[in-house]
Amino acid sequence: MSFFSWGKAALPTFSRGGIHPDEHKELTEDLPIEAFTPTTVSLPVSQSLGAPAEPSVVKAAKVKRGDVIATVPGGVSLHAPVSGIIKNVQTGPHAALVYDTVITIQAKAAEDEPEFAEEAGWQDLPIAQMLERIRDGGVVGLGGATFPTYRKLMLPKGAKVDTLVINGSECEPYLTCDYRLMLEESDKVVLGSWLIAKIIGVANCVIGVEDNKQPAAEKMRQTIAALGLEKLEPKVRMSVVVTQTRYPQGSEKQLVQSLTGRLVPKGGLPLSVGVVVQNVATAYACLEAVRNRKPVLERVLTVSGLGIKTPKNLRVPIGTSVEDIVAHCGGYSADTVKILTGGPMMGRTIADLDIAVTKGTSGLLFLTAAETSLDGYQACISCGACVDACPMGLEPNRVSQYMEAGRPLETERFGVKECFECGCCSYSCPAKRPLVQFMQVAKATYRRHERKSK
Ligand code: SF4
Ligand code: SF4
Repeated sequence: MSFFSWGKAALPTFSRGGIHPDEHKELTEDLPIEAFTPTTVSLPVSQSLGAPAEPSVVKAAKVKRGDVIATVPGGVSLHAPVSGIIKNVQTGPHAALVYDTVITIQAKAAEDEPEFAEEAGWQDLPIAQMLERIRDGGVVGLGGATFPTYRKLMLPKGAKVDTLVINGSECEPYLTCDYRLMLEESDKVVLGSWLIAKIIGVANCVIGVEDNKQPAAEKMRQTIAALGLEKLEPKVRMSVVVTQTRYPQGSEKQLVQSLTGRLVPKGGLPLSVGVVVQNVATAYACLEAVRNRKPVLERVLTVSGLGIKTPKNLRVPIGTSVEDIVAHCGGYSADTVKILTGGPMMGRTIADLDIAVTKGTSGLLFLTAAETSLDGYQACISCGACVDACPMGLEPNRVSQYMEAGRPLETERFGVKECFECGCCSYSCPAKRPLVQFMQVAKATYRRHERKSK
């Protein structure tokens, strides 16, 4: 493990860059997860990285909770999160893609609602069958990445992996959904982690939790001790490691370094240093898919910010609209100046309350002017703060200058392709330069250029 100090002694962390933004977790950290089901859900078919799913239902069809409503050939499916009638299959808004095909279901309880009961002997299923259930259950990275989980767990031939890292860092300010999940459903998170370790064939599982979530770390430790995992085969050594609270502790490369001391090389994946990383909510979803044959039908998200009347941690069906969530939380105040899906560092601004919760939506934030800056930006004063803050050692200042000069295809030498858009640079810049946006546009320009030159 790596022990670097920013005033707090001896807690592991990553070696380069990073910031400590105001946490704002106090708004929701003590609020238990509350279930909310609206009368209508609208599911965009693009819910994971890769090709969008094709609708397999038509208007007026009856569906039961858990039925497949859209499929990707050989990929992850989308399921009806509620029983009811298909009201529409049409173009609608999407938080990231602007527009998408959207399947709307009018909820109506079925007489024989599926129960998704625990199946005896699930622990001993063949690995191929476990992977099949994870794929068929539509499980994707629920930390926000939405990469199909079965693909990440199907290790390439010859891969040498010895450690599973479970990400309970939740380093984005405001968000507390993973924290509450670890506190309230720790048995499922721990069993799901054991299951993933079994699938990838490793005997070592480390669960990383930042030190601003000590109660969750303690709960996870107690659960590991109480569950009697030593009776399960194979034996997996499970531990909880408390890391420094430092953004972006939860990004894969940084967390791998913090927990194992291994440095993921430039352009490489954690796999290249023998590690697979999964988020706590994804571990939970894998368990439900394998043990209960329950697909991803809902998710826990945090609704927060000073603008929302009643902040909450909610469990909602996928497809619940922001509008319904706002109404459930008592509305938002007139001084709300920004609405975001996700956290304030990597989330997206939305302008339309018709946007639906997707599998990757970890939060909805309603920020007032006191919480977010709307100031215009200034010229670079060459202070170097952005370079110091970048956890990847990049030069966002230089990228922004080249972008302003209309030279996007000369920014590779400043590391633009290594940028994972964490936002530390923008956060640190006294001139308020939108550095992460410059990085995003430069990356998109390279992608377009590479497509064209093929
Ligand atoms: S957004 Fe990119 S350039 Fe900026 S700090 Fe993060 S990795 Fe570095
Ligand atoms: S932090 Fe802002 S002002 Fe300072 S070097 Fe970076 S871009 Fe320039």
